[in-house]
Amino acid sequence: MNGKTDLKSLTMEELTAFVTAHGFPKFRAKQIADWLQKGAANADEMKNLPAELKECIRNYCYISVATIEKKFVSRYDKTVKYLFSFPDGECVESVVMAYHHGWSICISTQVGCRMGCTFCATGKSGFSRSLTASEMLAQIEAAQRDLDVRISNVVLMGMGEPLDNFDNVLRFLELVSSENGLNIGARHITLSTCGIVPKINELAEHRLQINLAVSLHAPNDEIRAKTMPIAKAYPMDRLLKACRDYFDKTGRRVTFEYAMISGVNDGDEHARELAQRLGGMHCHVNLIPVNTVEGTGYQKSNTERQQSFVNILNAKGIAATVRRTLGSDINASCGQLRRNHLKKEDS
Ligand code: SAH
Ligand code: SF4
Repeated sequence: MNGKTDLKSLTMEELTAFVTAHGFPKFRAKQIADWLQKGAANADEMKNLPAELKECIRNYCYISVATIEKKFVSRYDKTVKYLFSFPDGECVESVVMAYHHGWSICISTQVGCRMGCTFCATGKSGFSRSLTASEMLAQIEAAQRDLDVRISNVVLMGMGEPLDNFDNVLRFLELVSSENGLNIGARHITLSTCGIVPKINELAEHRLQINLAVSLHAPNDEIRAKTMPIAKAYPMDRLLKACRDYFDKTGRRVTFEYAMISGVNDGDEHARELAQRLGGMHCHVNLIPVNTVEGTGYQKSNTERQQSFVNILNAKGIAATVRRTLGSDINASCGQLRRNHLKKEDS
């Protein structure tokens, strides 16, 4: 922003380099990191810093914050959905869910998405820009402050394709798990991708202990290409090989997301084909009845279909469950809120 340094996106090493380059001792970096982690929005709030360092931060840096534009709380469970805005006016969605093991947040990695999946509200409303690492952190900090809770799990399953914003996402993963930051361990973080094969391979090289979720949504390329344009660039054979390699390199079991769409991918024959493709893999299949997005014409599979699909996979030795839906009364699947927001602005 205005050529200034994005203070909250700096690693501890870079922050230390910044303070020492301006003639301040190293320990000032830790103090700044503490303030940032508490959600300080400007240098004036950093009470224990000398005036000269505050001045320096004001002159050379900016601090990312996410502002709550809208907030919806589910009547059925404790799910909270936010529409956050950034200073340039762009908006993203985040969803906070309460589980028995703690609070979990689903954050966005881009404003919109380039991947164009036909069932997805985000994919349908186009792409504006990628988020910086600090803007990803800001969503977590803003939600924690608003709800007065500590969030212990993060899923990168909101708006955007994380692996289409690779460098910023990698930086975010480093910062969010840092002891000087939110200190959320890699095993409590899940990254979901539509399957950009070269980037899955690159991620595997980093050998992070995060969970990888891959949006499969079909048992073969023909059906997959009907809803996911990315399937034409990276066929399933290559995608599944990348997932096997990912497991070999990281030891982390891959989760496959499978949105069940009535009459499209939910037949018993599809379950059998999927089981055959995934045979021998150390994986888990997450079945999600598709969320109906206006204008797509897709309907969710009925309960009987869902159960039959699970049974076939399980019988063939593939771990599979139907995901519980949270916040169904507040459009908690990402992309829908911003889409409605944009529509209202248009009219
Ligand atoms: N771009 C990444 C992560 C964000 S989407 C990805 O595609 O994996 C998060 C998940 O929501 C993906 O599994 C995506 O396929 C799924 N999704 C998107 N729209 C949906 C809808 N209408 N119903 C059910 N799942 C949906
Ligand atoms: Fe993008 Fe994921 Fe939506 Fe596909 S499902 S359009 S990759 S956000």
